[in-house]
Amino acid sequence: MRVQTTMLDEWGKLLITGWNKAGWMAKSTQLGDRIAGLVGAPDGSVIVGDTLTIKVYQALSAALEMRPERRVILSDNGNFPTDLYMAQGLIGTLDKGYSLKVVAPEDVAGAIDETVAVVMLTEVDYQSARKHDMAALTAAAHAAGALTVWDLAHSAGALPVDLTGTGADFAVGCTYKYLNGGPGAPAFIYVTPHLQNAVRPALSGWLGHEAPFAFDLDYRPDTGINRMRIGTPPVLAMAALEAALDIWEGVDMAELRSESIALSELFIGLVDRRCPTVTLASPRNPATRGAHVALRHPEGYAIMQALIARDVIGDFRAPDVMRFGFTPMYLEPNNIHHAVDVLAEILDNRLWDRPEYRKKAAVT
Ligand SMILES: *Cc1c(COP(=O)(O)O)cnc(C)c1O
Repeated sequence: MRVQTTMLDEWGKLLITGWNKAGWMAKSTQLGDRIAGLVGAPDGSVIVGDTLTIKVYQALSAALEMRPERRVILSDNGNFPTDLYMAQGLIGTLDKGYSLKVVAPEDVAGAIDETVAVVMLTEVDYQSARKHDMAALTAAAHAAGALTVWDLAHSAGALPVDLTGTGADFAVGCTYKYLNGGPGAPAFIYVTPHLQNAVRPALSGWLGHEAPFAFDLDYRPDTGINRMRIGTPPVLAMAALEAALDIWEGVDMAELRSESIALSELFIGLVDRRCPTVTLASPRNPATRGAHVALRHPEGYAIMQALIARDVIGDFRAPDVMRFGFTPMYLEPNNIHHAVDVLAEILDNRLWDRPEYRKKAAVT
């Protein structure tokens, strides 16, 4: 509906005057402020646009420049590959002897030392759902003089995040996972208020300029979080995101988290009893787990296709992980009972063992 209104009533009637009359240009900050409320950040510290991959690059490049005497980016092997790829690409572009140090998640704290410029981590592992202690690692990074870049892809809308309280320097995230912004919805970036005006944007696009419509030939960054804008924002996608964020109004993240844990604990308990051939790939302790549960099985891909064919929709991550999301916004305990009934039936009767379930699709 919202997208239709934006297309027909705004774009259809106002054409380009919609940038002012329908307030399209202000949406990136307005939506940013609404996301800020969900991740424990103040107004004016989050802006929406581009993709998460681009936002990782922006945050990392800005953070690195703030520690010019250091050459190590520290991350872990549970990070999402695109975050690591962007670091590798940036290191190549800078060509100043930077290195990306990738350790096991449990070894991150011990690897933070005076050589580290930036600790770049995803709070909740996209595969296993293992959750880092953002407050402790941020404090350790700061104690060693390093900055932090937190990826909240599997945190925003999934669990309470306190960017202000943890002292995080930079954070990025997407809006198409737990925030329900829709496929390809724009990403967001957070910069802690006291660093905002010290950031030199590596992607110095015209909309991050102090006066974009002066069309000056020289770049001058705008003040505040606005300088993390790059180019024209995706208005139709932002309309969908805005409608999604309406649903989040008044949601208590602590309450959502406890309901999400209740659902995932129910799921794990039932799977333990009824599905002996799968193993839990997520932490058992819900306090160190995000909002999804990962199960391992050598035939995980085919099993997931058999589940999807029966309307239990999760996804698969190579080589053998099935992921199930637990979001109390639209799941109830009876859905969990049903999902495990279906899973047990598929496993007990080898219903996954069909050629059509083994055919790998482009997106798994
Ligand atoms: C989903 C995800 C991404 C995806 O980045 P896009 O630019 O939106 O494709 C990046 N990082 C993490 C940690 C993710 O979970």
